[in-house]
Amino acid sequence: MIETDIIIVGAGPCGLFTVFEAGLLKLRCHLIDALPQAGGQLTEIYPKKPIYDIPGFPEVLAGDLITHLVKQAEPFKPGFTLGERCEVFEKTDEGKFIVTTSRGTKHSAPVIAIAGGLGCFEPRKPPISNIGDFEDKGIEYIVRDPNFYKGKKIVISGGGDSALDWSIFLANGIATDVTLIHRSKSFRGHPDSVQKVMDMAAAGKIKLITDAEVLGVSGDEKLRSINLLSESTGEQIIETDHWLPLFGLSPKLGPLADWGLNIDKNSIEVNTYDYSTNIPGIYAIGDINTYPGKLKLILCGFHEATLMVQSAFKRIYPDKNYVLKYTTVNGVTGF
Ligand SMILES: Cc1cc2nc3c(=O)[nH]c(=O)nc-3n(C[C@H](O)[C@H](O)[C@H](O)COP(=O)(O)OP(=O)(O)OC[C@H]3O[C@@H](n4cnc5c(N)ncnc54)[C@H](O)[C@@H]3O)c2cc1C
Repeated sequence: MIETDIIIVGAGPCGLFTVFEAGLLKLRCHLIDALPQAGGQLTEIYPKKPIYDIPGFPEVLAGDLITHLVKQAEPFKPGFTLGERCEVFEKTDEGKFIVTTSRGTKHSAPVIAIAGGLGCFEPRKPPISNIGDFEDKGIEYIVRDPNFYKGKKIVISGGGDSALDWSIFLANGIATDVTLIHRSKSFRGHPDSVQKVMDMAAAGKIKLITDAEVLGVSGDEKLRSINLLSESTGEQIIETDHWLPLFGLSPKLGPLADWGLNIDKNSIEVNTYDYSTNIPGIYAIGDINTYPGKLKLILCGFHEATLMVQSAFKRIYPDKNYVLKYTTVNGVTGF
C-alpha cells in the first residue's frame, strides 16, 4: 500500500503543479497516470508545439514546460505510478481513500485530487474502411514532432484548434506543401487562428479547401493519396506524403464516471470555492472539471490547484492554522 497525503489522478500539467503547491504546505503527493510518462496532453499530443499563454514564458514548447514542472515538483519528492489506470476507490472507516489501479496497485490518502484532463486519450477517427492500413504509415492523428514533416507534402483535416494551429505552424517553413480541408466554411477554433489561416491562404502559404471531406485513402506500403469530395469541384485525388485527420479526442472519463461524482457532459462538477466535488475529500482540477465560466487552459488549472491544496490542508489538519507566506520569504524547502 502506497501511503501519501494527496493521491493525484493524472500527471498532466495540473497534476504536476499540484505537487509543488501542496509541497509548500508540507503535503506529500503521489501521482497516478495511465500513460507511461508524465505530461498529459502536452507530452502525448503536442510536445513540440509552442505555447504562448503561460505567465512568465513568452514562448515555451509544451514538452519543455513539462520538464520545468517536473523540476519544480522535484524538491517535494512526488511518487509516481505510471502506465496504470485508476479504476476504483473505496473509503476506509478511518476516513481515508484507497485507490486501486488497473494493475492492482493500491494507494491510500485522506484526499484525492482528480486531474484527469480529457480522461483516456482516444482520437476521433474518420469512418474510412481501410484507414487502419495506413495508420503510422502516412496517417497520424497526433503531431508528436513537427520536424517529422520537414520537407513533406501534408494534408490536414479539421476545423478546431489542433487543425488550425498545426496548419499555421507546419506551413511556416517546415512542410513544403500544406493543404487544410474542412467540411464547412466556419471553424470552431480560436478566431485569431482562423484569421491567420485565412491570411496565409490568401498569401498562398496554405491551400484551404472548405465544404469538402476526405472520403478515401490509398497507397501501397505507405499512404500515397487521399480522395476528396468538395462541393465546388466534386471528386478530386490529392497526392500527399501525410494525412493528419485532427478531429480531436473523444472525451472518455473511463472508470471515473462510476465513482459517484456529479458529472455534466463528461466533466466533473465542482464548487469554485475550493474545487471540491460532491464527495467530501475528492477534488477535481484542470480540464476534467466544470463550473460556470470554465476555461480549459493550463493557467486556469494552475490556479485551481493552488486554491484546492489550501482546502485539502484544512481537511487533513483541521486544527492547524496556515498563514500564507511568499516563497521569497519562506524559500522552497523540500522534504
Ligand atoms: C493541440 C492542443 C493545443 C493546446 N494549446 C494550449 C495552449 O496553447 N495553452 C493552454 O493553456 N492550453 C492549451 N491546450 C489545452 C491544455 O493542453 C489543457 O488545458 C491541459 O493539458 C490540461 O491539463 P490537465 O493536467 O488538466 O490534463 P491533461 O493534460 O489532459 O492530463 C491528464 C492526465 O490524466 C490521465 N488520466 C485520465 N484518467 C485517468 C485514470 N482513470 N487513471 C490514470 N490516469 C488518468 C491522462 O492519461 C493524462 O495524462 C491545448 C490542447 C491541445 C489538444
